[in-house]
Amino acid sequence: MSFNNHQIKKFSRQLILKDFGEEKQNLILKSHITFVGMGGINIPALLYLLAIGLNKLTIVDYDKVQLSNLNRQIIYSVKDVGKYKVRCVSNYLKKNYPDVNFLSLNKEINKNNCSKILKKTDIVIDGTDNWDSMLTINENCVKKNIPLLSASVLGYDGNLTLFKNNKKKHICLECIFPNPKKIELPRCETAGILGTTSGIIGTLAAVKAIEYLTNNKNSSKSTKMIFFNGKKIELKSIKINNNPKCRLIK
Ligand SMILES: [Zn+2]
Repeated sequence: MSFNNHQIKKFSRQLILKDFGEEKQNLILKSHITFVGMGGINIPALLYLLAIGLNKLTIVDYDKVQLSNLNRQIIYSVKDVGKYKVRCVSNYLKKNYPDVNFLSLNKEINKNNCSKILKKTDIVIDGTDNWDSMLTINENCVKKNIPLLSASVLGYDGNLTLFKNNKKKHICLECIFPNPKKIELPRCETAGILGTTSGIIGTLAAVKAIEYLTNNKNSSKSTKMIFFNGKKIELKSIKINNNPKCRLIK
């Protein structure tokens, strides 16, 4: 695909980058990303990926904007409080990215609809803070070999893992957290969250998505969980091994 003058100017600063260029730009333009949860992680991820050239996407959320979301969910304003998040993001997309091809789903992802929602996508970014949803998304991505970026934030800290879900080697969210019992995750509304922590993890999710989508040949690299410590301002990563007892191993 050749670029028109508008695209050449718009993406000029990344097109001239060593090791980026037209080939990788094309891969980004062709890729489809599904963002589950339009909250503190996926809003910055979405904004950066759009700016960089994402052209096809699905957004999923069932919540309405609350005033307390605004310290980190930077696409919304006070005028949006009480409105459905997907409606606000859809309006933003129509106004600022009229050529972007997007599907907006105002629903909660669950066991019944997950398979259909994640049908056509190159990668899923899970920014939900609900353990049931995270497990459902994980299971579907494993079954369909869809790469899953799983991220969470709380307080000053956050973490991010890309589960590649390729056929060669199984490593998934349940390998790390095999407890099938219902877990009540600590939530931002009770434990608090510094807005910038969401920004860091959301932006890292965008970086990781770009790296994956433009470097498919390297998909056999090891799986690492990245930790951000927002008090020490430190990033660390640890290698994750698969759990041979994981119930999702095919
Ligand atoms: Zn597993």
